[in-house]
Amino acid sequence: MKLPIVAYGDPVLRKKAVELTKDYPNLSELIANMFETMYNASGVGIAAPQIGLSVRLFVIDLSEKDEPDLKNFKKVFINAQVLNEEGEKWDFNEGCLSIPDIREDISRTQKVTISYFDEDWKQHTETFSGFKARVIQHEYDHIEGKLFTDKLSPLRRAMLKRKLDSISKGMIKVEYKMKFPAASKKR
Ligand code: ZN
Repeated sequence: MKLPIVAYGDPVLRKKAVELTKDYPNLSELIANMFETMYNASGVGIAAPQIGLSVRLFVIDLSEKDEPDLKNFKKVFINAQVLNEEGEKWDFNEGCLSIPDIREDISRTQKVTISYFDEDWKQHTETFSGFKARVIQHEYDHIEGKLFTDKLSPLRRAMLKRKLDSISKGMIKVEYKMKFPAASKKR
């Protein structure tokens, strides 16, 4: 089932998400719905706060990318904790399903070491680099209540303010279903 994606401005995107327990209701269904919602919006990653749930869960699928290194990269991250970030910082042009039509060069470290549980509740601690690290860092930020726009310079953010405001108000055209904070306040 496709779920509406929460738009920029919704307070749920600003909360530090809480851990899931093993008896979290309908977890496999939720994971399946998140993948479906992400594919429908042509995304490579989506985090639970983006569908309105403030829990530490995100999913990533890079297998569509035409690179042998990414071929089998389809993963579920439950209760993730970043343990270390290292390597040189590099810029990549990021976008976000909650912030449609805005893409900005964002600087992040080359590598990330993260511990997490997969969908079978097996624990992993792994180090990822390059594009994999980039997507993990972006999604991990979501469960920490952070957005890529937080990393922009104050000047750049000021320049985007009007556009960000119109996203919150639902004054944009999107190909997928969204939930707009300002719009939902109206009767
Ligand atoms: Zn995002």
